[in-house]
Amino acid sequence: PTILAIESSCDETAAAVIRGGRVLSNIIATQAVHEQYGGVVPELASRAHQQNIIPVVTQALIKANVTKSDLNAVAFTRGPGLLGALLVGCTFAKSFALGLGIPLIEVNHMQAHILAHFIDDPKPAFPFLCLTVSGGHTQVVLIKSHLEMEVIGQTTDDAVGEAFDKTAKMLGLPYPGGPMLDKAAATGNPRAFDFPVSNMPGYDFSFSGIKTAVLYFLKNQTKQNPEFVQEHLADICASVQYTLIQTLLRKLKQASKDLGIKEVAIAGGVSANSGLRQTLQEYAKKHNWNVYIPAFQYCTDNAGMIAIAAHYQYLAGDFSNQLASPDPRMKI
Ligand code: ATP
Ligand code: MG
Ligand code: FE
Repeated sequence: PTILAIESSCDETAAAVIRGGRVLSNIIATQAVHEQYGGVVPELASRAHQQNIIPVVTQALIKANVTKSDLNAVAFTRGPGLLGALLVGCTFAKSFALGLGIPLIEVNHMQAHILAHFIDDPKPAFPFLCLTVSGGHTQVVLIKSHLEMEVIGQTTDDAVGEAFDKTAKMLGLPYPGGPMLDKAAATGNPRAFDFPVSNMPGYDFSFSGIKTAVLYFLKNQTKQNPEFVQEHLADICASVQYTLIQTLLRKLKQASKDLGIKEVAIAGGVSANSGLRQTLQEYAKKHNWNVYIPAFQYCTDNAGMIAIAAHYQYLAGDFSNQLASPDPRMKI
């Protein structure tokens, strides 16, 4: 099938075209308007989606060398995400499907982050474990087949992406902080400062403790030396990043051991983190894991991942209809 997929759950307006499981185009318009506010402003996100969606879809079709009449279905992100942002993609997709008389497919954004692993080779074998780490979620997921997944652990408070972004903000790094912190950490010593590695029951996580620990640590240090952050930025970033990675990997290792699964993937925006990618690869080598790390363009929000999810849903006959509406808290 040839499918047009649309993603509009947060601050990226994206469209992709997939044919026979091969992504032909993957266009993303990142909304710069939020930078000046240091975070995503939902109302502005909705408006930017409205401005971007037609040009982005048009470009995706042109780049794929596909016309509307070639399409067999239209897919959109139903959730989770911001209601007003999701509404733009959902409404656009419904109109498009109605106008062309083709089926509609609703996709779960978190499932799509994981299914991004089926865009390129090598593809994980079932069952596999996926650590999904993004701006709004932190989950350990057991994937039994393309469309059968079970969340076996998750954060009880902040997402790890939030922990990256919030500590970056405390350090005075510009928004979005995650990638900035990653960059600054590259030249630092990860053992320079000690922050607590939380340990929740089962495969659950907590990231609110480290945020508070960093806050008080910085308050104390700057009281003694106002230049502390400037002088030690790389070491602070490396230490925070190290702690976040250890917190994540502790649960992933436990799940792998308990379930006897050595096929392990990471997904979501934080899977772009160089420290996480490197630590996971080193651990995998030592413990004979087969690890799957997405290409950068499929880590953060994109429509290619919505397209690959829609591809499998199309094959399974999983279609939506004109009554579809967004679900901001959609679960896997
Ligand atoms: P969700 O997928 O949970 O709905 P989202 O779509 O906003 O949330 P993504 O786009 O998947 O999230 O990921 C964005 C997050 O990834 C942000 O918190 C960002 O800081 C983080 N991130 C991106 N690159 C890096 C990096 N190199 N290091 C650390 N964090 C990163
Ligand atoms: Mg984003
Ligand atoms: Fe996302």
